[in-house]
Amino acid sequence: LTYTAAPDRYTKIPYRRTGKSGLDLPAFSFGLWQKFGTDYPFETQREIILHAFDLGITHFDNADRYGPPHRAAQKNFGKVLAKDLAPYRDEIILSTKAGNPIGPSPYLSGGSRKSLLASLDHSLRDLGTDYVDIFYSHRQDDSTPLEETVGALVSAVQQGKALYVGISNYRPDRAHQAAELLREAGVPLLIHQPRYSIFDRSIEQNGLLELAEQDGFGLIVYSPLAQGLLTNKYLESIPEGARATNSTFLSPDAITETYRRRAAELNKLAESRGQSLAQLALQWVLRQPAVTSALVGASSTWQLDHNLKALEFPPLTDDELAVIEEHGVH
Ligand code: NDP
Repeated sequence: LTYTAAPDRYTKIPYRRTGKSGLDLPAFSFGLWQKFGTDYPFETQREIILHAFDLGITHFDNADRYGPPHRAAQKNFGKVLAKDLAPYRDEIILSTKAGNPIGPSPYLSGGSRKSLLASLDHSLRDLGTDYVDIFYSHRQDDSTPLEETVGALVSAVQQGKALYVGISNYRPDRAHQAAELLREAGVPLLIHQPRYSIFDRSIEQNGLLELAEQDGFGLIVYSPLAQGLLTNKYLESIPEGARATNSTFLSPDAITETYRRRAAELNKLAESRGQSLAQLALQWVLRQPAVTSALVGASSTWQLDHNLKALEFPPLTDDELAVIEEHGVH
């Protein structure tokens, strides 16, 4: 069946400016980390990707590592791009990342020029596109001179293989150095991708929020639902098919009594506001002006429809924020 994008797709969610750049990103971006490899039906993946685009999600986040196996998520996205989304390429922000290990070779890991630029070329082939919109250094690599890593990002832009550059999981001191080096090279740092949720508030304490404003880069925060822990799905049981049953990244051991107590309190607060815990958790990360976009995953179109209503509720009051403060994790 031929896909035609929903004509009203730009009326559904807000778009927010990324730092001091000219680029707007959707308040919700979509990531293909889990359930976009060979372990989940391709037709479901395609349906979720196209549904996301119909809901106004213009930004798709990928990485060489995503699968399983590594690189599978980009190949699957590439198939959808070729078959369905090619006419809309100018309306899509594609991201990829390199630098996290994807094999035992010293060239398939880390922040060297070799590792980053070879990975990018491979990702372009897998995605079936000439350029990505954002190319990231996936993690801080203290064993490689920052100048080399930043130089590789700059080359990617100069070679026309990326429009913008980003960093992910960098500590604030290194993020600042990267921003300075990139500014000097004439390729400003567009965005930083850290983890942030009610269950991981470290960017509030380590200075990254302030640094983003000061250095003029945006923040796109990953796992805002703590991989599903900030939804109501694990309150009573561990449902079959949920990430805690089938991913090496979320162990069922995370579902402790302490977790359930916290989640139940937060769920009660959400219910008192007429929303779900997932919607509360997403609204909460997006309350920060320095946060450009909440980077979510989903294993069904229902989850996307449900979660994207998060901004339709009244702003959180000081009293409500205090309850979240009490039951969140610092
Ligand atoms: P989330 O915290 O948004 O978790 C999403 C998962 O939660 C879904 O896949 C689904 O899992 C479950 N879920 C979502 N909505 C609901 C709902 N309403 N009810 C019940 N369950 C729900 O984000 P992710 O951890 O998936 O990360 C998002 C993206 O961030 C990744 O795809 C990737 O692009 C990026 N990322 C980047 C990292 C980095 O190092 N830079 C690291 C990690 C992620 P299920 O149904 O399977 O249980």
